[in-house]
Amino acid sequence: MGAKHVSTGSSTGGSASGPGGGSGGSRDADRRIGRRALLVGGTAAAVGTAVLARDELARLWWRVPGVERPREEGVVDYAAASWVAASDENWRRADRPDDFGVDMVIVHVTQGSFASAVKAFQDPAHKAATHYIVGQDGRVTQMIRELDVAYHAGNRDYNERSVGIEHEGFVDRPQDLTDEMYAASARLTAGICARYDIPLDREHIIGHVEVPGTDHTDPGPHWDWDRYMELVRRAATSTPSPGASKSA
Ligand SMILES: [Zn+2]
Repeated sequence: MGAKHVSTGSSTGGSASGPGGGSGGSRDADRRIGRRALLVGGTAAAVGTAVLARDELARLWWRVPGVERPREEGVVDYAAASWVAASDENWRRADRPDDFGVDMVIVHVTQGSFASAVKAFQDPAHKAATHYIVGQDGRVTQMIRELDVAYHAGNRDYNERSVGIEHEGFVDRPQDLTDEMYAASARLTAGICARYDIPLDREHIIGHVEVPGTDHTDPGPHWDWDRYMELVRRAATSTPSPGASKSA
C-alpha cells in the first residue's frame, strides 16, 4: 500500500531565469529602471516560487504532517486480519510513521471475551482500544489503522509510538493463553516489526504492565515471554511480512 498517488513527475523545470546580474549601467535613470525591473522580476519570481511550492506540496502532500493519507473502509494493515471499526472516540487520527515513529508493540490481555472486547472498542464511552484483538482460536481483528494513535497504553507518548494488541482471556487463567493465540499474535507482531523496522527484543515488544505510570497488570504472570519472543523471531524469518515493502 501507500504512495499510490505518486506521480513522480519530473521536477517542473524552467526557473524563469532572473535578470542576470548586469550591473554595468552608469546613469541614474538606468539604475532606477534596473532596480524597478529587478523588483518586478523579483515579484514574478516570488509568485513563481509560490506556485512551484504549491505544486510540490500537491505532489508530496502525503508527507506533510497533519495531512491524511487516503483510507478505504475495511482496509487492514495485516493481511490475515479482518476489519471491524472501533468508535473514533477511542483513537486519534494520525499519519504514522511520518508524524510519529512507531517503535513498539504493546501486549495486552482483555480480561473478557473476544466479543466483549470488540464491543467495548466500538463503544464511544469506553475511551480506549487497541489496534488489534487476537482470539484464543487465533483469529485476528483489526479495529484501528496503524496510521492512527489508539488509546491503549494509558500514556500518551507510548500510545503515539506503539501498536497495541489485545489477547482474549484473563490474566489469572493460564489456560486462556492458547497455542493458536500465541502463534497468531507472534505472526502479527513479526509483521508490525518488519513494517516499522522495530527490533525484536523486550525493549520494543513489551507488556502493558511495563508502560510507565500504568496501574494495569496485563498481560499478567502467565504470559510466556520467552516462548512468545521465540515465536516472533521464528515468524519474522519465515514469513515475508505483508505490507513490508514501504520505502522511505
Ligand atoms: Zn492492557
